[in-house]
Amino acid sequence: MAKGRVRFYSDRCKACELCIKFCPKGALGLDKKNINALGYHPATVVDPERCTGCGTCALMCPDLVIEVERE
Ligand code: SF4
Ligand code: SF4
Repeated sequence: MAKGRVRFYSDRCKACELCIKFCPKGALGLDKKNINALGYHPATVVDPERCTGCGTCALMCPDLVIEVERE
């Protein structure tokens, strides 16, 4: 199966959770251990093995936080 690598510009994330809700594989979640420059727990990959590199999360993010590379 195709795999993707997801990169977050975490300090721009406002934790709206759109990327998390729309990831068809459930690969994303909020990083409860970190707080970003805006004062939120930023979105992150919680299960990288699930990511197919579909790019939906990057399309959904209103703040251009996410870049997806397909491997
Ligand atoms: S690229 Fe697709 S599968 Fe991977 S985290 Fe984003 S929405 Fe989920
Ligand atoms: S859609 Fe963008 S701003 Fe919203 S939680 Fe995901 S990365 Fe953060």
